[in-house]
Amino acid sequence: MNSYTNNNVRVRFAPSPTGFLHLGGARTALFSWAFAKHNNGIFLLRIEDTDIKRSTKEAIKSIMDGMTWLGIISDEEIVYQTQRMERYRELLKKMLNEGNAYYCYSSAEEIDKMREEARKNETKPKYDGTWRPELNKIMPNIPKDRNPTIRFKNPSTGIVTWNDMVKGRISFKNEELDDLVIARSDGTPTYNFCVAIDDLDMGISHVLRGDDHVNNTPRQINILKSLNAKIPEYGHLPMILGTDGEKLSKRHGAMNIMEYKSKGYLPEAMVNYLARLGWSHNNDEIFNTRQLIDWFDIKHLSKSPSQWDPKKLDWINSYYIKHTDTHNLVNMVMPMITARNYEPNENDLGSIIDLFKERSTTLNQLAENAIIFYKETINIADDIKNKCTDDQTIQLIRKFISIANNVDWKIEEIDRVIKTIITENNITMKQIALPLRIYLTGEANTPSINKVLLLLGKEKVLSRLRKTLDNYKQL
Ligand code: GLU
Repeated sequence: MNSYTNNNVRVRFAPSPTGFLHLGGARTALFSWAFAKHNNGIFLLRIEDTDIKRSTKEAIKSIMDGMTWLGIISDEEIVYQTQRMERYRELLKKMLNEGNAYYCYSSAEEIDKMREEARKNETKPKYDGTWRPELNKIMPNIPKDRNPTIRFKNPSTGIVTWNDMVKGRISFKNEELDDLVIARSDGTPTYNFCVAIDDLDMGISHVLRGDDHVNNTPRQINILKSLNAKIPEYGHLPMILGTDGEKLSKRHGAMNIMEYKSKGYLPEAMVNYLARLGWSHNNDEIFNTRQLIDWFDIKHLSKSPSQWDPKKLDWINSYYIKHTDTHNLVNMVMPMITARNYEPNENDLGSIIDLFKERSTTLNQLAENAIIFYKETINIADDIKNKCTDDQTIQLIRKFISIANNVDWKIEEIDRVIKTIITENNITMKQIALPLRIYLTGEANTPSINKVLLLLGKEKVLSRLRKTLDNYKQL
């Protein structure tokens, strides 16, 4: 812990490992982390794995991998709720002893009946209080062979209120809150109870989470109050909407944060983009992690939902690719190419990347472009196959081959060959550059043709041109 650490600010990210780390979760983690770091505080990770049936090891791994990829690291040991059962039991006992919780022997059928009644009367379903102890109340006889649940004795009057860091003041009437079951009949503690106890024990000062938790907050506040605990500040983040304004889902593209890694997005770009989903600093669109931390003022969190915009993510990613040192890009792209059984030389790959980094949106695109230089044979896309097959073009390519065959493969010489073809045949640059691009790379758009020629090397240039001419003969 360094001397600047502000132990008063302790923020946690508390995912339930029932699925991979999705975009919304990653954004909550990022905001919690940026808020903690902005305040020189502590960021913590808590795995809420009490739902044994739905929690998986794979999901835990996906959460860890996603956070590591984004650089969001817990400052202290990771807390797993399943390892805290002893502590939950201890506090359940304390709450029972202090009269803040009670055993409830109502059967599942009885509870269902209460729900049914409420539905008929169009009122909010509510526990009828049969087992709620009150002063001078005569309690029913305890049924035999029935394991009780434990309910929290919620205050029956007054209001719970908090000043939400994002949404402003939010209040709930206690009478609407019901006596929450905090331990099931098998003794296992329930969600809202565990969260409150963990936040207390971990000394959490600020909670940032999705606004689907707004209804849980008054319950957690009441539990904490009954334990005389300090109540954290809460901030509820509006959701992320898809491009069509609907709740973000699989149909809007990849949801698993790690899919963006495998699609060739850079973690810095992802962090930058996620940060802009519901937070802003003036009109800044591009900022690094240091700036995000310095600027992360909670006041600038948006009160309204944000919209997922894959085009903007692409734009940000291409910006980062353009501004990443070529040497680093080589390190990232090299394994992608060797995985495809090519063996590039580092220097050559660096030159190729230099040529393409201005025009690639993802690392995968960069790798695809580089691979064109290593392939034995190239495929010419169907829509351009029939371009440049006229007699004049074929003659030009033949001339190019015969002149190029005799030159020393240097950029000035290559330029001279192209110039000779242009002047001798009275054609434009495009008339020779386009067929060369197509014949050599299968693409109509490439960076400067002289550089492409140079990097391909004389041998490959001539053999590809000859091969393509042969293929065209058969068209
Ligand atoms: N485990 C909850 C979830 O994944 C979050 C709980 C919280 O942040 O308080 O939605």
